[in-house]
Amino acid sequence: MTMNDQDLVIGLDVGGTEIKAGLLRGAEILSARRWPTEREKGPEHSVNQVLLAAKEMHREFPDAVAVGVVVPGVVDSKAGIAEYSENIGWRDIPFGKLVNEVTGLPVGFGHDVRAGGVAESLYGAGQGFRDSLFIPIGTGIAGALVIDGELYDNPYGGEIGHLDVNSGYMCACGIVGCLESISTGPSIVRIYNEKSSTKLSDSSEVVKAAKNGDLLAAEVWLASVEAIAFTLTAYINILAPEIIILGGGVSKAGDDLLKPIEAYIDRRLTFQKRPKLAIAHLGDHAGMIGSGIFGLRARG
Ligand SMILES: [Zn+2]
Repeated sequence: MTMNDQDLVIGLDVGGTEIKAGLLRGAEILSARRWPTEREKGPEHSVNQVLLAAKEMHREFPDAVAVGVVVPGVVDSKAGIAEYSENIGWRDIPFGKLVNEVTGLPVGFGHDVRAGGVAESLYGAGQGFRDSLFIPIGTGIAGALVIDGELYDNPYGGEIGHLDVNSGYMCACGIVGCLESISTGPSIVRIYNEKSSTKLSDSSEVVKAAKNGDLLAAEVWLASVEAIAFTLTAYINILAPEIIILGGGVSKAGDDLLKPIEAYIDRRLTFQKRPKLAIAHLGDHAGMIGSGIFGLRARG
């Protein structure tokens, strides 16, 4: 790797609601801006919002030597193409080429979760580990694998959210039983609200209720967390990561998430090497910092 992390780079992390943009030096965010994705106006408009963000960042920060762009969905990073996003609705968008046309800079392109995994591995909780698994648990659940120091960059890899945990609930993918149907932030809230006839709006409120002695909340939380732990033991048995890094909104629960996962994993492992479990360090910025890393790598 020839990248110099002292160079200034522009990183764009495209989400369903907003585009987070930053001027970066390594993991340091020197300036940050946001643009709305406005997906309700259609995928073509959202593509233009990304190009607008890239163009304006480049105009504002002409010293940047490269730009990185990361998006959700199915991504062909080598070809620079966003193949498909159910969330934003686009298909086969050649972002690598388009962003290069509006900025004239080398463009690194990739997947948002895998970018976050690379960022956590280089600058966050995964520093010093060769094999890591990064799992953001938010409105969805996906995994980014770093194996022997290299990102496993398979467009269809890491879909831990669609492993069958026998939840009994319908998943957005159209199948009953997936991890996402029970363990994402919105799923945890939905299940608790259905069972209790209340109207909580965030999974952190379910955790709080559980801590205040609400037995139903405790039961819903534990079932969700143990479903996550079940899928992690599958990963551990197959790939034996040295560290598992939990991120996303649900990971703000901290020890209330880590402790029951650790207890479950301890029950399920005997001779296997037990990975370290940690909460992500870079928070909401992991994807943007990772996009900067992709940008610098594209420059070579
Ligand atoms: Zn599914």
